[in-house]
Amino acid sequence: MFIDTHLHLSTEDYHIDEIKDILRQARRNGVKKYIVCGCSKSEIKNVLKIYPQMRSISFAFGYHPEFADSITKQDLLELQEFICHDRVVAIGEIGLDYHYNNENRQQQQKIFREQLQLAEKLNLPVTIHSRDAIEDTYQILSQYHVKGVIHCFSGSLEMAQKFIKLGFYLGIGGVITFKNSKLKNVIAKIGLEHVVLETDSPYLSPEPYRGKKNGPQNIYHIACFLADLLNISIEEVAKITTTNAMCIFDLK
Ligand SMILES: [Zn+2]
Repeated sequence: MFIDTHLHLSTEDYHIDEIKDILRQARRNGVKKYIVCGCSKSEIKNVLKIYPQMRSISFAFGYHPEFADSITKQDLLELQEFICHDRVVAIGEIGLDYHYNNENRQQQQKIFREQLQLAEKLNLPVTIHSRDAIEDTYQILSQYHVKGVIHCFSGSLEMAQKFIKLGFYLGIGGVITFKNSKLKNVIAKIGLEHVVLETDSPYLSPEPYRGKKNGPQNIYHIACFLADLLNISIEEVAKITTTNAMCIFDLK
């Protein structure tokens, strides 16, 4: 069994029939649990509406750094309410993104810190978005008692080891299958002991589907790639990464 620990699966990105179809395909490919993100107020409301009953789907709610400039005190209070939902297993994706906006670093850091405090208070793991901001992300995370996943990890071996030492797992998805990805060298060295699988659907489809819309069924292709890379069986990849995900997100 596989777990897709990070995906976006709302009707903002997919037609509702497409979602049903995708989930059927994913089940056939061995994906049995999903952590669906809601990283804006509209995405949170959307997923709460479409997944009231599906026990295989858990949620991670938090405000993505791209919305940092517009987040108000009221929004943060509302986030606390959203997080009280019994199927929320993490706060995320939260973090820093200097790639798209390099001018509001202070504001991004403020919103990031507010949500880390919330995670600390509620004792919830976090899923971290970090783009062109890995040093600042590390510095800030090291000041809080939080654990979680560095979603779409793409740093160096040294950074991987630093995050692991802090208690974090690395979220590995389609990027590792890309031809020029340096990530395979990192994972070849550290193995899967601190790795969870994710697709980040609808983004970042693995090879051979790169450029197409992603879906959780593609976890299987990421797992096959890792099995080849590490010269272990796909069952072993499933076993290790699923155990890690169950542990960090306290899934039942
Ligand atoms: Zn995401």
